[in-house]
This record gives sequence, C-alpha cells and structure tokens, in this order.
Amino acid sequence: MDFDAIFASRLAGLKAEGRYRVFCDLEREAGQFPHARRHVPDGERRVVVWCSNDYLGMGQHPAVRQAMHRAIDEVGAGSGGTRNISGTTHYHVLLERELADLHGKPAALLFSSGYVSNHATLSTLAKLLPDCIIFSDALNHASMIDGIRHGGGPRQIWRHNDWRHLDQLLRAAPPGAAKVVAFESVYSMDGDIAPIAEIVAVAKAHGALTYLDEVHGVGLYGPRGGGVAERDGQLTGIDIVEGTLAKAFGVMGGYIAGSANLVDAIRSFASGFIFTTSLAPALAAGALASVRHLKASGAERQRHQERAARLKQLLAKAGLPVMPSASHIVPVLVGDPVQCKQVSDTLLDEHGIYVQPINYPTVPRGTERLRFTPNPCHTDALMDDLVAALATVWGRLQLRRAA
Ligand code: PLP
Repeated sequence: MDFDAIFASRLAGLKAEGRYRVFCDLEREAGQFPHARRHVPDGERRVVVWCSNDYLGMGQHPAVRQAMHRAIDEVGAGSGGTRNISGTTHYHVLLERELADLHGKPAALLFSSGYVSNHATLSTLAKLLPDCIIFSDALNHASMIDGIRHGGGPRQIWRHNDWRHLDQLLRAAPPGAAKVVAFESVYSMDGDIAPIAEIVAVAKAHGALTYLDEVHGVGLYGPRGGGVAERDGQLTGIDIVEGTLAKAFGVMGGYIAGSANLVDAIRSFASGFIFTTSLAPALAAGALASVRHLKASGAERQRHQERAARLKQLLAKAGLPVMPSASHIVPVLVGDPVQCKQVSDTLLDEHGIYVQPINYPTVPRGTERLRFTPNPCHTDALMDDLVAALATVWGRLQLRRAA
C-alpha cells in the first residue's frame, strides 16, 4: 500500500477546500506583547498578534515569569513522574487548593491541558455513573465531544443554549438513569454566553449533575476571575467546573473543581490523569502566581472588557461584518474559506497583522471568520491600524460588508 500517496491525497483535499492550516512561526516578545517576531524564509518581520488566547497578557506578567524562573531554580525542570509516582510537587498541591478556592469547591484536580481535563473527566463520569446519559450542548468543544464519545454511553445533544430543549430531553429520559448536563460558559468562536441560571434550574429539576467548561471564562469574569458562573452567582449550582491555565492565566494545564468525592473518584479512575507525567513544576508555579494575581486584581478584567467593546464599535462603524458577541471575543464574518485565508495572508504580509483564519470543522462551513481577541495591551493606535487595514483588504477583495 502506498501510504504516502494516501496522506498526500488527504492533504490535497484540505488544500482544495482552502482549509489547510499553516503555522505562523512566532517569537513573542515578553514585555512587548502583542508585538512578536515572525520568522520567514528570508529573516524576521515584526507583527502584532490579534488572535492570542493569552487574553490578559498574563504570559508576560512579571509575577508569573518570576515564579516560573524561581521554580526551575529551586526544583529543576520536569516533575519526574505521574502524580501517583513521585510527580506530585508542592506546587501542584498549592495550585489545586487555590483553584478549589477560586470556584468555591472543596477540591480541584490538575491535568496536562484543558483538552485532557474535559476528555478524562467526561469519559470517566460516563463509565462510573449507573446508566449514565450525557446531555451535551450542540456547540460543545471537541474535547468534550471526544470525552463523551470515549465514555461509550448514550448521549443526547440539546440545541445550542436552548434550555427548553434540554428540559424536553431530560423529561423524556429514564428516571433511574444518572444524568450529566455538559456545557460551556463562553463559546469561543461566536463569543456568546450560556444562560447558566436557566440551564442549572432545568438540570437540578431533573436531578442531573452539571458540568461547566469555563475555559474562556476563568480569569476573565467574576469578581475574583472565577468565571461566568461566579459573575452570575451560579457557582453553587455547578457540580463540576472545568478550566484551563493556558488562556487568561497565560501558562498551561487544565483542571476540574468539585466535591471531594467527585474529584477523588476522577483522580482514582481517569486514565488521562493517572497514566501521564504531571505538569512541570514551573508551569504549576507560574499558574499559581497568575491565579493569585487575578483573584486580587480586577484591573486587567476591566481593561479587557473595555478594549473588546471599543474594537467592536470601531469595526461596526467601519461597516465591517462584526458578529454579535456578548463576550470579549470579536468575530468578523467572511463566509468563505479561501477568502478568509486570503484576508489573513494579506493582513500578515502587507500590514504585519496576525489573525488566523477560522474554518470548518472549528466553525460550520459558510461561516468562516477572523476571530479577534483584543487584550489589555492593544492600544487605541493598534486598533486604528487594524481597522484601517481591514477596510483596505475588504475593499480590495470586494468582501461582503455589514448588512
Ligand atoms: N474547552 C474549550 C471550550 C476550548 O476552547 C479549549 C481550547 O481551545 C479547550 C477546552 C482546551 O483547553 P486547552 O487549550 O487548555 O487544552
């Protein structure tokens, strides 16, 4: 069998559709973010990054960098083991305590990433709970979908953010079955926010366990950065909060927070937790510094929201098709994968502006978009440059403007 020809033909299919992904080879400039150096075949170019999920720039925060340096100097580079076999350092323990407190839960558990935390927890719940049915929002992230599938039990998909539909599905389910309602707070590609109170009320009325992915909410919403559930006063109705340390907290890793027995059960049964080396101590130390900082300081959150609102206003004023978003995420619709890549390439090559095109399967076909994530470090001048460059490219490529 000609394996290489098979791979080449699969790649050719992606390229023909215009959704073959190309890396942007970046070197972020710590202290200068969102500025970065982009490596190209003939050297380097300076670019402004507009699509980073380091939403608050915490990846370059002095307290975070110092904590990571100190941890490497004190305990070395790697953890040296799985959590059960010599890989639990005091940084892991402190970070789990801090995260449990952040979400008002008795316990928390770290994973290698947000992806792994969703996958490991949802698949394990499906296996542990009797006759478990998972009720999953139609737009849940791939990591949740993959985890639910891996669990192997029945699943029901409810229409996105439609708690009435969820109610119907729960009502029709066998009363004796364990039910888990899995959803996100901020949906990262559209920027809309779940009606958490309504979903929790419906789930609780049917005795279901609630699982909330706050990956795009933690650090960013709530008085201490506990997420949208904290902001909305809904933390007690959420049985399991899942989050990442890689976005607003600017480092890497994922976690869940919940009751002591639930967390202990996942710790004791989840393969994705047990059979892998724990996070490097420096990652745990950096995340700990970041979580502590954002618990005490709301300045970054305030400026972040102000920046996002300003960019939305500027884009709308320029007649660019900014999509409605209730959050910090600013999507601009292109509606075609080839054109979306063309806009992204032109912005990068001619204007030094980096925004990655977002294509199927991340978003449905026909809704290809640019997804801007303004952060507290984007100045007014950078925003003006961005909008002017977009207006030029939109005109040149004769793209659809706002209705
Ligand atoms: N959940 C959601 C909703 C996400 O958007 C992502 C990542 O983009 C993840 C989970 C995975 O988090 P991580 O990047 O920490 O693996």
